[in-house]
Amino acid sequence: MRKKIAIIGSGFGGLSAAVRLQAQGFDVTVFEKNERVGGHAYQLKKKGYTFDMGPSLITAPDVIQKVFAAAGRRMEDYLDLTYLDPFYRIYFHDKTFIDYTGDSAKMRQEFAKFNKDDAANYDRFIEDSRKLYDAVITDGLGTTPFMDLKTYFGFVPKALKLNALFPAYTFVKRYFKDFRTRFTFSFHPLFIGASPFRAPAIYLMIPYLEKNGGVWFAKGGMYAFVQALEKVFLELGGVVKTNSPVDEIVVKNGRATAVRVGSDVFAIDAVVSNADFAHTQTKLLKPEHRKKWTDKKVLRLDYSMSAFLMYIGTKKKYPELLHHTLILSERYKELVKDIFDKKILPDDFSMYLHVPTRTDADMAPEGCESMYVLIPVANLASGLKWDTIKEQYADKVLQFLEEDFGMKDLRANLDVLELFTPEDFKRDRNSHLGSAWGVEPSLQQTAYFRPHNRSEDVSNLYIVGTSTHPGAGVPGVLMTAETTHKLVCQDFGLSFQEKMHPEPIVG
Ligand SMILES: Cc1cc2nc3c(=O)[nH]c(=O)nc-3n(C[C@H](O)[C@H](O)[C@H](O)COP(=O)(O)OP(=O)(O)OC[C@H]3O[C@@H](n4cnc5c(N)ncnc54)[C@H](O)[C@@H]3O)c2cc1C
Repeated sequence: MRKKIAIIGSGFGGLSAAVRLQAQGFDVTVFEKNERVGGHAYQLKKKGYTFDMGPSLITAPDVIQKVFAAAGRRMEDYLDLTYLDPFYRIYFHDKTFIDYTGDSAKMRQEFAKFNKDDAANYDRFIEDSRKLYDAVITDGLGTTPFMDLKTYFGFVPKALKLNALFPAYTFVKRYFKDFRTRFTFSFHPLFIGASPFRAPAIYLMIPYLEKNGGVWFAKGGMYAFVQALEKVFLELGGVVKTNSPVDEIVVKNGRATAVRVGSDVFAIDAVVSNADFAHTQTKLLKPEHRKKWTDKKVLRLDYSMSAFLMYIGTKKKYPELLHHTLILSERYKELVKDIFDKKILPDDFSMYLHVPTRTDADMAPEGCESMYVLIPVANLASGLKWDTIKEQYADKVLQFLEEDFGMKDLRANLDVLELFTPEDFKRDRNSHLGSAWGVEPSLQQTAYFRPHNRSEDVSNLYIVGTSTHPGAGVPGVLMTAETTHKLVCQDFGLSFQEKMHPEPIVG
C-alpha cells in the first residue's frame, strides 16, 4: 500500500515537494484554496496581456534542475530559459545608473565610473560572496534540516570566520565606498524579504549565486515554471485539487491523520503544509495541538514587509526600460526603517519594474508593453487601509514614472491597470499580516530559529516554503522542499538519494 501525503498549498514550495514525494513513491494530493496553482507566482491575464504576479527573476537554475532530476526529468524538456544580460539596471536618485551583470570586467568598468577603489575591490568581494555561496549551496547548509541547536552551533565557527553573521550592509561597507556600489551589493536581502541592515551577511551569497548561475527568463514568464512543475507532478500520477481550502489538519494522539476541506475529510499518512506558517499554526491546528508554537510565540515573530503591485499594460512601447529595472529613492537606510520598523507609508519610494515584453513579445498584444511595478511597503501591522488608499497611491506612482522618470504619455497609453496590495496578500494567499515573504530572515530568525521543516507540535506534519529554512525566494523555497523531502524519508525509513542533473546549464 502506497502511503498518502496531503500537501496544503501550491506555491513553489508545495509543488516541488509534491514532485519530489510523488517521485519517491507516495500518493500525493495537493490542496489549493485558489482557482489555480502557483501561490505568489500566480498569473494574471487581461486583454491580451500576461502578467506574472510575483516572482520574475529566475536564478540558480541548478537548484531548479535538481527538482526535475528528482523526478527523472530534464528541466530543458519543460522550460525554455533565456539568459539576461545585463541582469538588471539600477537607477539612482541622481539619474546615474549601473548595469548589473555577471561579467567581472563589465562590472569593474561600471563601478570605476564612480569610484576606482570600488572597482578594484569587486573581485575580493565576489570571492568572499563565493565562500558564503559554497557554505550554503556546495556544502549543503541551505538544505540541512536545522532541527536542533547542535547543528546550528556546528555552523557558528565557520560563520564567524566568513563574517556571515554581520549585518549585510556592514559587511558590504568594508569593501565599497560609493553609495551606488554599497547599494548594489547589499540590497539582495530585500529580494527575500529581509532588511539589509539586520539580515545576516550569509545572504550575500546571492551576488555570487547570480554571477555563477545567471539571471534567466522563462518563455511565457514565471508561470511557465509553475505549469512545468504541475505537469511533471501530474505525469507522475499526482492529484491536484484546486478551489480546495483546507480548514483543518486533523490530529489524533499527536499525529496528523487527515485534512478537512469543508465537510470532506481526507485520511492521510502525512501532511506537508506550504500555506503561510502563521496560518497553518493558528488556523489549521486546533488550540490543544499548539504546544511549542503557541499563538503568542507565532504572533511575536517578526514578519517581513509586504508589497504594492501594479500590473500595467500600455499601448506604447518603452524601450528605455530593460527587462529588470530598479528605480531608487535617495533614502536607503531610512526608507528600509520606515518599512520594516516604523511601518509607515513614506512620501518617497523605491521600486522594481518588470518588463517581460523586453524578452518575450508574446506577453502583450503587438506594439504593446506588459510590465509590473513592485514597491516594498510595510506589512499590515501598519494599520493602513489599502482598499481605501490604493487608487490614490497608484496615481502617485504613475505620475512619478511619467513626470520624474520620463515615461512619456504613460497615463494616456494605459490599457490595463490592476493593483495588488498587502490586503490582497492576506485575502488571496492567507499571508499573515499580508507579509509577502513570511517570517523575516533576521539573524534571530534564521536556521534553527526559523520554524522547522518538521512540525515541533504534531508528528507526521511537515512545513515547506518561505517561513522555513533557508527561506524566501524561488531557489530558497525549492531548497526547503528538499529539506522536507529528506525528513519525510528519514521518518518513513526510506533512503534519500539526491539525483544530480548530468549537464549544468550555462549562460
Ligand atoms: C511580489 C513578489 C516578487 C517576488 N520576486 C521574486 C523573484 O523575482 N525571484 C525569486 O526567486 N523570488 C521572488 N519572490 C519570492 C518568491 O516568490 C516566494 O518566496 C515563493 O514563491 C514563495 O513560495 P511558497 O512555496 O513559500 O508559497 P506561496 O507562493 O506563498 O504559496 C502558498 C500557497 O498556499 C495556499 N494556501 C494558503 N492557505 C491555504 C489553505 N488553508 N488551503 C489550501 N491552500 C492554501 C495559497 O493560496 C498559496 O497558493 C517574490 C515574491 C513576491 C511576493
